Amino acid sequence: MIAHDVLTYICARCAGIGEEEILIRPYNYKGTETRPICGDYELSNREGGRPVVASDDPRYDESEYYTDFIKYSYPKKGKVPLIQVLSLYSAEPDWGMDSGLKISPLQALTGGSQGYRHLRYGLFLFRAGIVHRMALHFFDLAQIAFNRRDMYWGVRFSARAIHYIEDLLTPVHTKPFTEMFLFEKMFHAKDLYFITYNYHLNFERFVAYHLWHGNGLYTGIIESAVPFELLDLQKDLLPGSRIARRLFPLIFKECKNIWGDTMKDRFVKISIEDINMIRPTDRFQKSILSWLEFSASLVKGYIKKFVKPYIGN
Ligand SMILES: [Zn+2]
Repeated sequence: MIAHDVLTYICARCAGIGEEEILIRPYNYKGTETRPICGDYELSNREGGRPVVASDDPRYDESEYYTDFIKYSYPKKGKVPLIQVLSLYSAEPDWGMDSGLKISPLQALTGGSQGYRHLRYGLFLFRAGIVHRMALHFFDLAQIAFNRRDMYWGVRFSARAIHYIEDLLTPVHTKPFTEMFLFEKMFHAKDLYFITYNYHLNFERFVAYHLWHGNGLYTGIIESAVPFELLDLQKDLLPGSRIARRLFPLIFKECKNIWGDTMKDRFVKISIEDINMIRPTDRFQKSILSWLEFSASLVKGYIKKFVKPYIGN
């Protein structure tokens, strides 16, 4: 998904995170991290900045969809509100740490290592992508940091875990296209490639634009979602990803109704004007709202169970 920070911020607020401040601490986990990150990725502190992906390549740049619906403040005496660390860095895994890696031969099916770590594609009985494992990896690191009484990195690793949970629960991260569509485009590999890429990204840009502009319908459903009582993170994530996969065919069909074959031969990035022209059907809105609702439910559950207990320690 895009606009992780809005979803995370509202969930954190609802889960009882207030304006508690934490001290920014240096990174000290090189020996503890078991998964490699991109060699070019520079671990930076973005407190007071923007969560958005900024890139010279317009395909990846998200700046045009962004507004500061969530206000991020600059550190004062090295301290920032914990809720801002949690929401800001729930966007961090998209800033480049997962790109350019060689993880698995299957990553070719997900467009590279970035996709491989952020998706869990399922087609027939076949599965590709390890987003669920990334969530558990950063959950473990967060526990290590909290146990070292390093609140800052406990919260920042939790934010990354939340990123992957939100990705796992995003319908367009569960399938590239429907099985039916695969048969339809069986002999048109180029169409299949561009349509998959463009529907996925542009659907997310549409929702992100509305989240970053505080669309009350979307922020309202996130606010009203009931926190999920998490018992075992690994087990509890599975039903959520199944719900996301069940929602996928309808969302894909609606994308097909909106964009049809107009995106089949090149990368297309929708403009703000295009977004404002989209008149989503009730079914489309309902699918988006269900997705945001169960995502919010799990994120709130996560924060309540795995972040909140450490605050004040
Ligand atoms: Zn992601």
